Amino acid sequence: MRTFQQLSPLRTYLRGIREEGKMVGFVPTMGALHEGHLSLVRRAKADCDVVVVSVFVNPKQFGVGEDFEVYPRPLARDQQLASEAQADAMFLPTVEEMYPAGFQTVVDVPGLGSLLEGAHRPGHFAGVATVVTKLLNMVQPHRAYFGQKDYQQLLLIERVARDLNQTADIVMVPTLREADGLAMSSRNVYLTPEERQAAPVLSRVLKYAEAQIHAGDADLPTLTAELAALVAAEPLAKPDYIALVDPETLEPVLNLTETPVLIALAVRFGKTRLIDNALVAPPGITLPRTRGVKM
Ligand code: AMP
Repeated sequence: MRTFQQLSPLRTYLRGIREEGKMVGFVPTMGALHEGHLSLVRRAKADCDVVVVSVFVNPKQFGVGEDFEVYPRPLARDQQLASEAQADAMFLPTVEEMYPAGFQTVVDVPGLGSLLEGAHRPGHFAGVATVVTKLLNMVQPHRAYFGQKDYQQLLLIERVARDLNQTADIVMVPTLREADGLAMSSRNVYLTPEERQAAPVLSRVLKYAEAQIHAGDADLPTLTAELAALVAAEPLAKPDYIALVDPETLEPVLNLTETPVLIALAVRFGKTRLIDNALVAPPGITLPRTRGVKM
């Protein structure tokens, strides 16, 4: 596996790859790689000839008082894991490479970017959209892979790709979970043993909601109250939001029997904030095309 810190040698390497007619897949990450990230790498490797993984802890997407300084950065381990997952190249830009003196431009998606996560983390999605736009411009992949775990991020990146005529196909990869249902996340290491035991309440809530909606007669006010009660039954869990929304617009759904639903959760356990989601359709309704997948 090749490792690049600077853009110029990465571009030279990738130009050669493209001239050979090879397909380039790209997996942007903030590092502290886990099996969830590696499932994106493996999927990219199955689809493409050459896979580039980036690790960049993007200061612009962290709010004041968030965990930018303490975010885990086990770089040597990340390189080993990416290499074992058959990545061909790693791009590890510095903050100075990404945001040189004088940098000003912001990519903002005010509609989608202000809902759900955006309402709780002001500026977060402008930071995400800006860095992902830059990374896509730097790597110029044929396909870029994102996890359903961060569904709103994926939706926003698709919006930017369409709005700004970016050429990469955006591909969604399902959320990888621990045996007890907890979605894998670099932030799970922050949980105390007690919080770690409490955290699977997120996936239990999603499973419950899914079963109710699949049954075909779910009632919106009842289910909303039941989900809140399930979270409240876990004393360490403090919800930021429990949302039942349209998977395309992220606006609240009006009923649970006629349209697909995104159930999105953000819950705090002590100092750690976890998110999770599920896409569900009632009987007879199909989920919109599996997001982004273009085979
Ligand atoms: P992050 O390093 O948290 O920015 O994540 C990098 C990419 O990995 C994003 O596209 C995430 O959605 C994806 N990802 C993170 N956790 C998981 C998971 N448990 N399963 C699948 N994809 C994930």
